[in-house]
Amino acid sequence: MLNNVQIILIGTTHPGNIGAVARAMKNMCLERLSLVRPKIFPSAEATARASGADDLLAQAQVFDDLDKALDGCRLVVGASARRRSVSWPQVTPGPCAQMLLQEASKGKVALLFGRESSGLSNEELDRCQYLVHIPANPDYSSLNLSQAVQVLSYELRVRDLENNSASEQLELPEVATAEAMERFFEHLRQTMEETGFSNSNQSEKLNRRLRRLFLRARPDDVELNILHGILSAARGRKSMRRS
Ligand code: SAH
Repeated sequence: MLNNVQIILIGTTHPGNIGAVARAMKNMCLERLSLVRPKIFPSAEATARASGADDLLAQAQVFDDLDKALDGCRLVVGASARRRSVSWPQVTPGPCAQMLLQEASKGKVALLFGRESSGLSNEELDRCQYLVHIPANPDYSSLNLSQAVQVLSYELRVRDLENNSASEQLELPEVATAEAMERFFEHLRQTMEETGFSNSNQSEKLNRRLRRLFLRARPDDVELNILHGILSAARGRKSMRRS
């Protein structure tokens, strides 16, 4: 999903910030960086600040207008240092990341960042379906550009990891069928009776407890076969003793 998330920097003034953004992105497994009318790029300062993330700088796409950078994007979110008064729906960083990832599962999405001095213009905000604001100190809410990218990239990374582990948990392991479990319970019941461990009159509660135990364990076929083997061995020994 993260491959479909494009970070777009508009009109960046300091090349060092572009490098620091590349580093912040690579730390969080993001790869797609686009630059719209950067003041200075490429630059040795950007490469130095990228500190090993210069592959992202080398792959970065440079555009002379925002529309070209947004081509094919399904969802565009603008990062704003100020809480804007009206018109744009606002989201907080966590839900923003979730929404971007959801759309990124179907295609390209973009997160826009503004200029160091003046942020995003109203025309640029018009291109955004949502604005995201990092809830910083209301009296000092403007983060350094690369640090804002870091916070929002981190949210994307955490949500992506959570989504992946949730879908792994949903993948059910290969467990024995209900029918196979019933055959095992019958074998267990017979064995307990035959070995004198319990008799059917007193064992309803016990059987239910044992059912709960084995159903909770969710054995697979191989494990059930081992259990059948143990029961058969116990019955065999019992009948050997009788004979
Ligand atoms: N002085 C500018 C802020 C520029 S900071 C202004 O008042 O708008 C550069 C960019 O970093 C911003 O355009 C925004 O994209 C991002 N940014 C900085 N602080 C942020 C915050 N608290 N929440 C979301 N984005 C932020």
